[in-house]
Amino acid sequence: MVTKIRTRFAPSPTGLLHLGNVRTALFNYLMAAGAGGEFVIRSEDTDRDRSRDDYAMAALEDLRWLGLDWAAAPGEDDGRGPYRQSRRGEIYADYFSALEADGRVYPCFCTQAELAVARKSQLAAGRAPRYPGTCRELDAAGRDRRLLAGERPTLRFRVDAGDALVFDDLVRGEQRMARGDIGDFIVRRSDGTPSFFFSNAVDDALMGITDVLRGEDHLTNTPRQLLLLDALGLAAPRYGHISLVTGADGAPLSKRHGSLGVRDMADAGYFPGALCNHLARLGHKYEVDGYMSMEELAGGFATARLGRAPARHDPVQLQHWQREALHRQPDEALWAWMRDAACPDGRSVAARVTDPDAFVGLVRDNVESPAEAAHWAALLLDAPPRFEEGARAVLALVDRGFFRAAVAELDSQPFREWAKAVGAKTGERGKALYMPLRAALTGETHGPELARVYSYLGRDGVRVRLEAALEHCRPDSGGS
Ligand code: GLU
Repeated sequence: MVTKIRTRFAPSPTGLLHLGNVRTALFNYLMAAGAGGEFVIRSEDTDRDRSRDDYAMAALEDLRWLGLDWAAAPGEDDGRGPYRQSRRGEIYADYFSALEADGRVYPCFCTQAELAVARKSQLAAGRAPRYPGTCRELDAAGRDRRLLAGERPTLRFRVDAGDALVFDDLVRGEQRMARGDIGDFIVRRSDGTPSFFFSNAVDDALMGITDVLRGEDHLTNTPRQLLLLDALGLAAPRYGHISLVTGADGAPLSKRHGSLGVRDMADAGYFPGALCNHLARLGHKYEVDGYMSMEELAGGFATARLGRAPARHDPVQLQHWQREALHRQPDEALWAWMRDAACPDGRSVAARVTDPDAFVGLVRDNVESPAEAAHWAALLLDAPPRFEEGARAVLALVDRGFFRAAVAELDSQPFREWAKAVGAKTGERGKALYMPLRAALTGETHGPELARVYSYLGRDGVRVRLEAALEHCRPDSGGS
C-alpha cells in the first residue's frame, strides 16, 4: 500500500513569519496538496525563554491568510497531537525512559564553561569540535553522588563507532556522514526540556510525517535524527534540504532587504496569490511561467524540481506577481482592498470616493497597492487641485493660452474630440498636447488613461482642474 504523503511545517514561535520561513511552509503544503496528502503544523515551542504564544497564533493566521489549509495544528488535533511541543512532555518522557533502559543515553554533568574549553582546544588542534566524552563512562556511583549533590545533568545520546551514515536527500541526493564526526549529542537539556533533535524527530515519527522539506541549515542535524529514530525503533521521514533565500544581492535575507514579514506584506496590500506565486518559484522551477492558482501550484510541484543553488528574492519579480494577482481581482474585491487606505490628509479612500465602481475602473491598471489607490484618490479629488512636482514642471513650460483654449473647447464632447479640438486650436500635438493635459487633469506626469480621467472627473471637474492649472503656467508669450 502506498502511504499517503503527510508533510508539516514546524516553526519555532520566536518571531513572525517572513518570506524565508514561509516559503518552507508553502513547499511542504504544495508537496502534500499536489499528492492528495495532508499538511500539518506543529509549534516547536520548547525554548521557554524565547517562545511566545502570540507568535504561534500569528503564524497560524498568516498561513491561513496565504491559503495553506492544514489537517491538524496547535489546538486542532487529529488524534496524533498535541501539536505543541510544550504539551508533549509525557510523550517525550516515555521515549527518554526507553533510551535510558537501552543504555543509549547517559547523563552529562559538563558545564558550559567546561564544554567551551574543550571546544577551544579542539579547534586549536585543528579538529572539528565534538563532545570529548567526559561523562560517557561515569560509573553508577559517581553519577548518583552528583545527582544527590543536586547537579542537573543533560542527557546525551551515545554515538558508537560504526558505518558511515547515509541517507538520500530529496533535494541533494545521497548524503554521507562519518559517525566519528557526530559526537555524542544532547537529547534532553538540564532543565528537562527535549533538545531540538529529539522532539523534532520523535514528533515527525509519531505524527506520521512522511516527508520533511526544511532549510539546508538543518542538513547536519539529519544524521543525528536518523540515529535517534533508529534507536527508538521509529520510522524516519524522507528529508529534503532546501537552499536558503537570499536578497537580490546574494546576502541572506534580512531587514536590509525591506520589510519582508508576511504580516507587514499583507498589511501593505500584497495578495496571497502574489506571494505564493513568487515564493513557489524561489528555488523551484515550474514548467509554466504564468500565474497559477494554488491548485495549479500544487499540481505542478515536484521535489525533483527543487534547486540546490541559493534562491534569490527579487522584489521586481514579486511586483510582477502582485500585478498578475491584481488583474485577477474582481472590482468589488479591489474596492474592499483599497477602501480603507489612508490619503495624505488621513481620510480613507472610501471617505473621498463617491462612485467606487468608477474609481476602481479608473485606477485598477495603475496601482499595485492600496496606498497607491489612496494617492490617486487624493490627487484626483483634492479641492483645490494639487499638482505634484513633475506636473508643475510641465505646466511651467506651457503658455496660459494653451489652457484658455482647453477651457474654451470644453463642451460636452468626449475626450478624443476635445483633445483634437484643443490640438487644432493651439497647434500642439503628440506629447506637447497630451502631457500638459495629463499634468492638469491628474496632477501627475503618468497615471490612468486620460480618457478615463476625463470622464471620471466630468466636465465641471475638468474645468476646475484646467483653471487651477492656469495658475502654474508661464505668462503668455503672445500666442492665443
Ligand atoms: N523548528 C525548526 C525551525 O524552525 C524546524 C526545523 C524542521 O523543519 O525540522 O527551524
